[in-house]
Amino acid sequence: MHIELSDITAAFKERDDPALDGVSLTIERGEHVALLGPSGSGKTTLLRCLLGAVRPLSGTARVDGLDPTEPRDLRRIRRSSGVIRQGNDLILALRAQTNAVLGTAPGWTAADWVTILRGRVPARFRDQVSRLAERQGILPFLKSRAEHLSGGQRQRVALVRAVLPQPRLLLADEPTSGLDPVTARAAVQALREATGVTVVVSTHDLAIARRFPRIVALRQGRICFDGDHLSEADADAIYDERVVSA
Ligand code: ADP
Ligand code: MG
Repeated sequence: MHIELSDITAAFKERDDPALDGVSLTIERGEHVALLGPSGSGKTTLLRCLLGAVRPLSGTARVDGLDPTEPRDLRRIRRSSGVIRQGNDLILALRAQTNAVLGTAPGWTAADWVTILRGRVPARFRDQVSRLAERQGILPFLKSRAEHLSGGQRQRVALVRAVLPQPRLLLADEPTSGLDPVTARAAVQALREATGVTVVVSTHDLAIARRFPRIVALRQGRICFDGDHLSEADADAIYDERVVSA
């Protein structure tokens, strides 16, 4: 999907300085972009603007021409999007594999519901769930309840859930936080393999950002870098002298 942000300003009433301050950004269909920035720089807020969860004070966001602040448009955006939220949001009492298929819910038949309520995976998703889970190293845990998984394992279940419905837009908010470097790389690889899909991944990790063909960096709610090669000097400019908010 094509993303167009025009001069977005977003603020929360609890704070004086805006979380996003005049952000304009175009992401072409099929582009893979890392959204880099220190904690508090506005990454989550930017992603939430695309999903209608934050309403900008001014400026516009468009996803394939759809307006996330319009409920009908928002439904269409959500139907085409796979989302990994910061800290994921698995249903802990359900099995990993049940969580993994939840993103496919819009297309379920009555028979699917019965299968899923029994904690099993409908036949047509089984191969794909196994394949994705194997790649993420969580195959042995698919039948475990999410509450018994480690943070990193949960994160990988959330990743499988996001890519399983084959979305046209993948938004992942710090999908590698809490993962060790090898696992983080596998997670990025899974997202990078979504060819033809627009992928936006937020991270505060330079090494992760550098695995993407385009890096957009935020600092204090403003875009301070947009390019394909982030030099050490660029990185310093993003992270140095940052105002650490209390
Ligand atoms: P990041 O994801 O880069 O860490 P965020 O987008 O979460 O940054 O936050 C940007 C700024 O907006 C921060 O100063 C943060 O404290 C503030 N902020 C984010 N969400 C809320 C909220 N729901 N209520 C109040 N302030 C918020
Ligand atoms: Mg965040």
